[in-house]
Amino acid sequence: MTDMVTGGVSTGSTDGPATATGDGAAPDMLEVLNPATGDVVSSYPIAGRDDVAAAVARARESATWWADLGFAGRRTVLEQWKGVLARRMAQLADVVHQETGKPHGDAILEIGLAVDHLGWAASHAEKVLGRHRVPAGLLMSNHAASVEYLPLGVVGVIGPWNYPVFTPMGSIAYALAAGNTVVFKPSPLTPGSGTWIADSLREVVPDEALFQVVVGGGETGNALCRAAIDKLAFTGSAETGKKVMAACAENLTPVIIEAGGKDALLVDEDADVEAAADAAAWGAFANAGQTCAGVERIYVHDRVYDAFLVSLTRRARELHAGADPEAKLGPMTLPAQVDVARRHIDDALARGGKAVVGGPEAVGERFVQPTVLTDVPAGSLALTDETFAPTVTVTRVADMDEAVALTNATRYGLGSTVFSGSRGMELARRIRSGMTGVNSVISFVGIPGLPFGGVGHSGFGRVHGADGLKEFAYAKAVARQRFRPVLALTSFTRDERAERNFATLITVLHGRATQLPGRPRRRRRD
Ligand code: NAD
Repeated sequence: MTDMVTGGVSTGSTDGPATATGDGAAPDMLEVLNPATGDVVSSYPIAGRDDVAAAVARARESATWWADLGFAGRRTVLEQWKGVLARRMAQLADVVHQETGKPHGDAILEIGLAVDHLGWAASHAEKVLGRHRVPAGLLMSNHAASVEYLPLGVVGVIGPWNYPVFTPMGSIAYALAAGNTVVFKPSPLTPGSGTWIADSLREVVPDEALFQVVVGGGETGNALCRAAIDKLAFTGSAETGKKVMAACAENLTPVIIEAGGKDALLVDEDADVEAAADAAAWGAFANAGQTCAGVERIYVHDRVYDAFLVSLTRRARELHAGADPEAKLGPMTLPAQVDVARRHIDDALARGGKAVVGGPEAVGERFVQPTVLTDVPAGSLALTDETFAPTVTVTRVADMDEAVALTNATRYGLGSTVFSGSRGMELARRIRSGMTGVNSVISFVGIPGLPFGGVGHSGFGRVHGADGLKEFAYAKAVARQRFRPVLALTSFTRDERAERNFATLITVLHGRATQLPGRPRRRRRD
């Protein structure tokens, strides 16, 4: 996926050259279009390299104040901000609706979840990151040991357009709670949503640059990667993720990559088939399929395949994408996504797959209608590449071993879902993905204590939960000597006796022979 947009954003360029404004010239403007109607929603000056550097410098100045405020002070600020967001959710949802085309109710859902995560991050930061004692161990028993997690400084965040509030807040809220200041570059399709959130924090803290937004496309993002930041949290496609890593490598800036997926939903023979079909429909079609952890592949046990397919197709036919009030699905926010959906459907059908709902005629100019593909052969694009549209494949499997093997036969590994009466946990653990929902779909994003992130081409690093807080801090270990050691080992006064005693101690502590697990027993002699 790329920023080279022609429909959702109109500008001199979004990913192309964005004139730096530091030379006194008028900045290039970025125009945001409503993807459902093509109407201009708003326009923003594009931040050039100098603007990005200036924002990072302001963030650096405020970083000390913010870090020194401590956990309790930061919690108070973030909880006030949470209140502002919660009270004005409907206004922000309007902006999100205008920019992405998603139904207002879906915008409320993502904002509500973001607020919940902000509350969790604010209230758990001290417990997760605050100083705690670590046992010093027998060898170093004359020491007191402790570890705490200190702020990195300034965190850069680059976000996508599909959940323009929830997704970046997974980094922003946790980075702020950990004591960093943030410079955020939203997608050029959704700058208004990002700007709105930053403005709302400024209502609580007007005089400090805790959270700033720089608007633009790939070039602005590249400037942020190469600016004097201490970490970059990227959410977007794997292809852009590689460019972000390369740019960050220049300054050894650490990165988190939250990239795409090709998530599977598995239905076991003893699953509640109706519940599985309901979850599959929502997982595949909600947000018009533009969900990183959305369901794109379904593997169903032979014994329940027919019943499941009947239920899923009925549910898919009850939905439609449109701009009318009854439409539960919006448009393709990124216009180029329409072509991806068409290519994947055409490829699946050309290889012998069937469209039991939708198909090529489901792909319109701005909207893609729900499409269910069956009998899609291995190697088809619809099974290998992220589609990011309301299309889903359904594949019959002989048993759950086959389902797990097919699920894992992907370079991605973001989320997954298992519907099973008795084997949910076992199957979940066998799937190579960062998160799995058992008997519910994408539920893990609503539990702030759970980490979120992928493996393989879905990226690395984690947002949300304790792991998400630690991503935005560095471990500071302190060993404090309480009294002089009995054995002076780390001194040139060390003598042979001390060395002998040390060797004896290590042998006593660690030298006992142990058996390898699972070693075959010797055969008894007759
Ligand atoms: P994208 O990769 O095209 O763009 C993501 C962001 O990167 C945008 O802000 C873009 O302007 C910026 N960018 C583009 N080129 C850049 C460059 N050279 N240097 C720095 N920044 C650059 O992705 P998208 O189309 O905005 O979002 C959709 C993708 O995001 C999908 O693949 C989806 O699965 C993924 N996604 C992942 C998660 C997750 O948490 N894992 C969440 C939401 C979306």
